[in-house]
Amino acid sequence: MREDYAIERFRKNGYKITPQRQEILKVFVGNNLPLSAEEVHRKVVERYPNISLDTVYRNLSILLELGIISKLDFILEGKSRYELNSGKHHHHLVCLKCGVTEAIDFCPFKSLDREKIEEEKKFEIKKHSFELFGHCELCREKPQEKSF
Ligand SMILES: [Zn+2]
Ligand SMILES: [Zn+2]
Repeated sequence: MREDYAIERFRKNGYKITPQRQEILKVFVGNNLPLSAEEVHRKVVERYPNISLDTVYRNLSILLELGIISKLDFILEGKSRYELNSGKHHHHLVCLKCGVTEAIDFCPFKSLDREKIEEEKKFEIKKHSFELFGHCELCREKPQEKSF
């Protein structure tokens, strides 16, 4: 999603475009990796030292509500990440060591017989998530650290 389009969406829904809000938006537009709220905060603080993590969270929920970003729950990692809505369905590779993520176009859901599952289990499928966890190239090159 482009920045001007997102700003238009703010306006249409009666939200003011505060400089901080715009900065949060910029963080997402200039970054196509899913970010945690803490990472967004760290970037915004560089320009707006007074912004609190709470304010970041509040703005993230507005961005979510407006459909500008999506929330990804990386269960194994134990936290949520957010990314700009690209409008294109995809999944992620997630590094367990450094948290770096990469999008993959592959979707395993396509190979499932959705109707059959819904019919057999009397379950209406609304959404799905699929993430692959492992070690990225950089982390694989580093010598193994011992953990005690
Ligand atoms: Zn890594
Ligand atoms: Zn999928």
